Amino acid sequence: MKILFAASEMTPFAATGGLGDVAGSLSHAIAGRGAEVVRVMPMYRQVIEGGFQPVDTGVRLDIPLGLRTQRAEIWRLDAEGVATYFIRRDEYFDRAYLYNLPTRDYDDNFERFVFFQKAVVGLVDALKIHPDIVHCSDWQTGLLPLFLRHGIRGTGRTRTEKTVFTIHNLAYQGLFSANEYTHTNLPFSTFTVDTMEFYGNINLLKCGITMSDLVTAVSVSYLREIQNPDRGFGLHGVVAAAAHKLVGIVNGIDTREWNPDEDPRIARTYSASNPEGKGACKRQLLAELSLDPDPKKPLIGMIARLVDQKGLDLLEEAMPEIMERPVSFVLLGHGLQKYEELAQSWALRWPGRCACRIDFDRDLAHRIEAGSDLYLMPSRSEPCGLNQLYSLRYGTLPIVHGVGGLEDTIEDLEEKGDEGWGLKFREYTVDALLAKLDVALRLYDQPKAWSAVQNRAMLKDFSWDHSAGEYISVYERLLKSQP
Ligand code: ADP
Repeated sequence: MKILFAASEMTPFAATGGLGDVAGSLSHAIAGRGAEVVRVMPMYRQVIEGGFQPVDTGVRLDIPLGLRTQRAEIWRLDAEGVATYFIRRDEYFDRAYLYNLPTRDYDDNFERFVFFQKAVVGLVDALKIHPDIVHCSDWQTGLLPLFLRHGIRGTGRTRTEKTVFTIHNLAYQGLFSANEYTHTNLPFSTFTVDTMEFYGNINLLKCGITMSDLVTAVSVSYLREIQNPDRGFGLHGVVAAAAHKLVGIVNGIDTREWNPDEDPRIARTYSASNPEGKGACKRQLLAELSLDPDPKKPLIGMIARLVDQKGLDLLEEAMPEIMERPVSFVLLGHGLQKYEELAQSWALRWPGRCACRIDFDRDLAHRIEAGSDLYLMPSRSEPCGLNQLYSLRYGTLPIVHGVGGLEDTIEDLEEKGDEGWGLKFREYTVDALLAKLDVALRLYDQPKAWSAVQNRAMLKDFSWDHSAGEYISVYERLLKSQP
């Protein structure tokens, strides 16, 4: 079985969030199960700055974009048994950010990602890769099923590949003006309400859902939620109409990168059987953040894109009451200006007890997971969520809003007693959040009980072992089905 993963971001090369973590670690886990895996992503500036050294294959592809032609270079890196191809065109991808400036999206995102997707098809043909399945992810690859069928000039192509499309986040749909359609060179017959048309615009996520042979979402609860009008971001009907080809598979985590027992980024390594090092991690983190060095006070951590989805509005309301309790708080994130300013105002209001870092800093993210006692994830909606899973592994108890993947991965200590490993509030209200925080603080005051829960959390297995097997079953099912 040969699987080609096409994604706009993949760890370790470049990532802005969960999509990158999952595309990178899932493809690796699938390769570990014996499938032949090939990966394709854009060659961003971050790939070079990250110290990776892909080599030029010398292959060049002429990619049509309407009446123009743009040349793509194909670079390649082999690591850990997986070949990764990079589509290089510096005009598109050698930029400070992947998709947007701090204030707005790049104007040419449609052109950039049409170019990328066509280059994927061009590469498959030029290098005779012959994948059985092309696995696409999110809007940046939503047109791939059509390009695989119609070719990059829209003149037709003999398609042998099946397509899987994974919805990592339905909120980001890749909406563009219909005027840009000419970049695709696709026939006008493929711009319909049954494919990608969405109130007169192009909707790339919709196209991925309608045109792929099979669609997965990153948790079972999220897949159910997005079929409801109040949680489907306008696409609930499209998702529901694809019911015959939908599968929910919860994400796994990369246990090589997120392993407190071997993590080079933290002050001292530790494990479930040898947890002492966590205290040193906390002391180091408090010092790094210039927070009061009071190790007895529980430290609450949070790492998130600062957008509405992550529950920042609820947190804004809850913060004064959270800080009335004997806790410290650290937030790492960047995103909407209003939330960045809000977070900075907290640090000024509670000096020594509240720290805020407006940044994207993977090393600090590791130190926060290791050094915090509690991890807060009050997301309004959450397709899967990864940080609650990293937290478990680092013995940092998650307090989450029970939606999507948070619902599926966290069992509540009050509800499940000894079978629980976190705290989960159901109502999206300040009172519900605080009630769970108070349960956590009471538990923290009982060191023995706290250690027992911490130990249980650290032993939970959310590696790819299980979920990669589910993806393999999906691929097998697809390959057995009729063309
Ligand atoms: P989402 O994909 O919605 O951003 P997830 O929880 O699924 O949320 O994944 C987020 C990933 O991105 C995690 O690996 C998290 O640690 C990382 N991340 C998010 N913001 C930052 C940041 N400011 N600095 C470092 N890592 C971050």
